[in-house]
Amino acid sequence: MSRHNFLFAMSAIALLNGHAHAAQSKSPPNIVFIFSDDHAYQAISAYGDPRKLLETPNIDRIGREGVRFNRCLVTNSICGPSRATILTGKYSHLNGFYNNTNSRFDASQTTFPKLLKAAGYQTAVIGKWHLVSTPAGFDEWHILPGQGVYYNPPMIHNGKRVEHQGYTTDLITDFSIDWLKNRDQSKPFLLMCQHKAPHREWSPALRHLGHDKDRVYTEPATLFDDYSGRGKAEHDQDMTIAKTMTATDIKLTPPPRLTPEQLKVWNAYYQPRNELYKKAQFTGQDAVRWKYQRYMHDYLGCVKAVDESVGRILAYLDEAKLADNTIVVYASDQGFYLGEHGWFDKRWIFEESVRTPLLVRWPGVAQAGAVRNELVSNVDFAETFLQAANVSIPADFQGASLIPLLKGETPADWRKSFYYQYYEYPQPHHVRPHYGVITDRYKLVRFESADVNDWELFDLKNDPAELKNVIATPENAATVAELKTEVARLRKELKVPDQTPPEASGQKVVK
Ligand code: CA
Repeated sequence: MSRHNFLFAMSAIALLNGHAHAAQSKSPPNIVFIFSDDHAYQAISAYGDPRKLLETPNIDRIGREGVRFNRCLVTNSICGPSRATILTGKYSHLNGFYNNTNSRFDASQTTFPKLLKAAGYQTAVIGKWHLVSTPAGFDEWHILPGQGVYYNPPMIHNGKRVEHQGYTTDLITDFSIDWLKNRDQSKPFLLMCQHKAPHREWSPALRHLGHDKDRVYTEPATLFDDYSGRGKAEHDQDMTIAKTMTATDIKLTPPPRLTPEQLKVWNAYYQPRNELYKKAQFTGQDAVRWKYQRYMHDYLGCVKAVDESVGRILAYLDEAKLADNTIVVYASDQGFYLGEHGWFDKRWIFEESVRTPLLVRWPGVAQAGAVRNELVSNVDFAETFLQAANVSIPADFQGASLIPLLKGETPADWRKSFYYQYYEYPQPHHVRPHYGVITDRYKLVRFESADVNDWELFDLKNDPAELKNVIATPENAATVAELKTEVARLRKELKVPDQTPPEASGQKVVK
């Protein structure tokens, strides 16, 4: 009899003996992992962005009843690599998934869902997968092919292509709740509910068009950043609202797969506003201002549906009396720029990109309403889930369980520095490969490409917006030396190879 089956049997005996409470505390917790794509912490009201972009009452509820992490950092700030790190508990250089261009997830690797399944959990992944190879370790998988689309999406259900009608965020929620309802109730479960939203091109549900009543959003202070004070890498990128946003991004042309009736509703909102835009013939900063407003309407509209989805899942857990023994996590695969530095997208070691939202509710274990400022990471998720399920953690996993932090403890040996590395270049956004170390106060970054080989230092205490590379300031010499030693130590500890393999950039390798 496996340890878990044994525990279930003991629980049943305890129940018969009237020790229901003691039994419950021993049964392994269920895990509901609600994961979105490109959800900026600035667009979650619990994180308190000064622009007060929108209210997210349901996501906030997870933090209010559980723990909110203020500095959850990702290992490599793009979609696929973040997902691979979450599944494997390893950095890109060990799990082999470096970029969204030519990486393919090696499904034979050890992942936390496989280990949970082997320990008796029922497992499902529903929504965006984005790892190219077929999901392994799941009893049920119902995924979007590739990036997926926002309306009437084709999906792949346990290997079979299916066509659906509706808005993708709502469908992923429907399928998730259906799976919860129809699961094998004798087993604990892992549900990974993974939204496409609010990924580019930021298409809201038709019911949310006009959700903001044409509100004028406050602009970020750095919307017109000229990148002075920083190096060539920051100047020479392709991710600005000014130059990089396409006609589809700003909804001058409709997204794919709308039905004729849906297109009518879509046009009724966008067309009159687009006419005004075309008539105005904005140029320069005025064009950026208009696009920023359109971007906020669309992006935040997508987030509204994600927040509603979270509300529906929390309501189901309450109704089914599952909430008490279920860990609920809300996270995204990385952060995102909402106009800061004139940008959208992610990729950088800089704060809006590298920091992802993380809120965790676990009744009786996670301190309700606590806020943690330690450096935590998506590389920690796998170990957290395994420890919660009392499954042993493979020695080569590279994170740390968050359970002590959830309980309100502060382990003396918690990481004081975090290693980051980004590879994909030059396409799609011309952000140069870089690696670096992040502490509570500093970031030391090394950009590396054929034409750039720069070290930069940012002091978040004096420069929270990361506008000034202060590596050459004489009083920082000791800090720079210390951080260079630290980044070398981390590279060794994490087994980062001296030479990055050429395919890591995602570009065609000429052999
Ligand atoms: Ca993403």
